Amino acid sequence: MHTNSTIELNKTAYRNNIQFLRKTFGKKVTLSSVVKGNAYGHGLHEFVTMANDCGVNHFSAFDVEEAKIIREALSDKVTIMIMGFVPNEDMEWVITNGVEFYIFDKSRLSTAVKTAKKLSTKAIVHIEVETGMNRTGFDKQELAQVIATLKKETEHLLFKGLCTHYAGAESITNYYRVEKQIKKYQEIYDYICSTGIQPEIKHTACSAASMMYPETRMDLVRIGIMQYGLWSSPEVFVKFLNSYKNKIDPLQRIIAWKSKIMSTKKVNSGEFIGYGTSFLAERKMKIAVVPIGYAHGYSRSLSNQGRVLIQGHRCAVIGSVNMNMMTVDVTDIDAVKKEDEVVLIGSQKDMTVSVASFSDLSNQLNYELLTRIAKTIPRKII
Ligand SMILES: *Cc1c(COP(=O)(O)O)cnc(C)c1O
Repeated sequence: MHTNSTIELNKTAYRNNIQFLRKTFGKKVTLSSVVKGNAYGHGLHEFVTMANDCGVNHFSAFDVEEAKIIREALSDKVTIMIMGFVPNEDMEWVITNGVEFYIFDKSRLSTAVKTAKKLSTKAIVHIEVETGMNRTGFDKQELAQVIATLKKETEHLLFKGLCTHYAGAESITNYYRVEKQIKKYQEIYDYICSTGIQPEIKHTACSAASMMYPETRMDLVRIGIMQYGLWSSPEVFVKFLNSYKNKIDPLQRIIAWKSKIMSTKKVNSGEFIGYGTSFLAERKMKIAVVPIGYAHGYSRSLSNQGRVLIQGHRCAVIGSVNMNMMTVDVTDIDAVKKEDEVVLIGSQKDMTVSVASFSDLSNQLNYELLTRIAKTIPRKII
């Protein structure tokens, strides 16, 4: 087991975020917790357990592997929706377990029908339509056939949802594209209804769309990044704050990442520290070695850039981040010693290293930074 570091998940912060989101969306909108990418690095099993304790009972996964972990954690108490990959050999498991899934092409539609027939049951499906993202989803000219199949196979297909995904709702640059998508989705919905069938629910919004274009909330919102206490982009945050009376961020970060000092040493002025020549000691220095590196998801681009907290001081990462270690400057902390706590993300005394500042420094999005945090690090709900 990995003992170099620990991830803590703050349940009180999560409860706060869910409360804010529910208040924003209202009672009529179902909140689906998006947990792909190991729950954005938070740790899938632990995260869904915590979320369910806070009253969340709808989860959106990317694939079957994730769906199985959610099932194992929460048995059949919750709804699971797979938005992405289902290999044919797993279709039986998915349908038997009542897991809902997206259908975005003909071959998956026919596999779903065939498998449901074999099992003498119904597959619960969400038809994904192409509105302008150009990734997955049925094109308009394919819809007639999809509709015909849905009408013919009512014994084996439950038309649960009609869905799409926006191509960058977090940036105003994409305003016209997203507006076009919203319009196109509505046209497709009207067309489908005009043929005499209707999905039980409509859903299109991710975090950014739900805030920037409230009309996209419909019956269900698929919320990823915001439930973890982060905004999709600074733009979304600023737009929200402009319309918010008390100008305080209503979201709270859930994750904290902590390690310990592995070793300390003194280095003379004029010496290089670590591989190569990227850091030169310009004075007599004291350094601490932390057993965390890029193999654990601490990006190499934080070399000579990152900051960590030790004894309530902000300490600079010096030299390059190695595979399993990094070196930090503790020259100005007197009583620093082996085993002292090191905070990579989170708070210590009155100082904080936030995910956002961390990712600004390394030019990564919040999303990418979080999902890179190694799965093997133990997660603890506090
Ligand atoms: C990831 C994802 C979401 C959630 O996105 P956030 O920006 O994290 O809220 C919603 N819908 C789909 C299809 C996704 O892939």
